[in-house]
Amino acid sequence: MKKTVNFFKTNYDNNEIKAFTKLVRNGNFSMGKATINFEKAIAKKLNIKDENVALVSNCTTALHLSMIVAGVKKKHDVLCSSLTFVADANCVKYVGAKPKFIDITSDLNWNMSVSDIEKKITKNTKAIIMTHYAGYPCEIDKIKKIAKQNKLILIEDACHTIFSKFKNKYLGTYGDLGVFSLYGNKNITTGEGGIVIGKKEYIKKIKILRNHAIDKSMLERNLSKTPTYQIHELGYNYRMDDIRSTIGMEQLKKIDHLNNLRRKLALNYKKLINKELPEIKIPFTNFIGDKFSYHLFPILLPDNLKRDNLIEFLNSRGIQTSIHYKPIHRLKFYKRHNFKLKNLDKISKFILSLPIYPDLSFLDQNYVIKAIKEYLKYKI
Ligand SMILES: *Cc1c(COP(=O)(O)O)cnc(C)c1O
Repeated sequence: MKKTVNFFKTNYDNNEIKAFTKLVRNGNFSMGKATINFEKAIAKKLNIKDENVALVSNCTTALHLSMIVAGVKKKHDVLCSSLTFVADANCVKYVGAKPKFIDITSDLNWNMSVSDIEKKITKNTKAIIMTHYAGYPCEIDKIKKIAKQNKLILIEDACHTIFSKFKNKYLGTYGDLGVFSLYGNKNITTGEGGIVIGKKEYIKKIKILRNHAIDKSMLERNLSKTPTYQIHELGYNYRMDDIRSTIGMEQLKKIDHLNNLRRKLALNYKKLINKELPEIKIPFTNFIGDKFSYHLFPILLPDNLKRDNLIEFLNSRGIQTSIHYKPIHRLKFYKRHNFKLKNLDKISKFILSLPIYPDLSFLDQNYVIKAIKEYLKYKI
């Protein structure tokens, strides 16, 4: 059989299966006790209070609700990286506001450029969405300071940095709001799922909005003697459910272990690439080895190489790779004539993500690196 190296594989074991079986027998599938317990467990893990965490249906709805509670309106613009997932820009559009795209810092630091943020703030700017790309933290202190000085709401897209710390504090808890995704390809998953972190007032409002803006949850209504309710504003169905929360609870228990396995793999890639592939650069290389989440392992290819051909070659060897991301300002829907981001435009055609997930083996990594080496030898 031909060897294959997937780009990603979900890590699960008997504990998920056991918990899931128990849940099915209980018969409570929609949002209820398991979701509340999962919220509590997340709060505990992040060293914050229960009142600061809300689970929602996915991270895109987490971002949409963040925009609403942050008070982002039609007249506003919101700064976000162009090298992030498109949901960061879409959520700004959902509330009628305008996303403004920020350049990356440099060839090897692909997080938002602090100086470009400063340049692009206007009197209409309301918020900044700060994505910690691949799992490596942005220049948080500086961005926080800018947000404070300009009275902007800071939203951390911490999807890639789930349950990892920077300076002894969990990423996702630095901003006014922080969001995580539990989608199938993230470090832990519930299939679909999202987490919002924020101050009590924000989270209280989000818990109402996620449930059609009904002022009492089903659980509260079932427990109370007067099952009536009221609607004061436009609500959504952005609920998490107990099926997902049950799986999430088991995934959460092993997150540190999973992130640690990723860290070892990242270190091994770094070692192999430095030794075998001197033409290839690794962004954020000084960070590698620290206790981060290593959601992605991106590399920068030499600019005389046709990325599509390499991807095709690796595919023929059974190796899946991916691209994170096609810059948002280059997507048809967001493209504006003459809009350029100097640093990002220079490298965006040469970025590539290598497979990384907890169950990847060192042997698989060797196979990937060897295949790239073989390609480089003949094609350059
Ligand atoms: C996955 C991801 C999202 C979107 O998450 P969903 O749960 O799929 O909506 C947003 N931002 C980043 C950086 C992501 O990686």
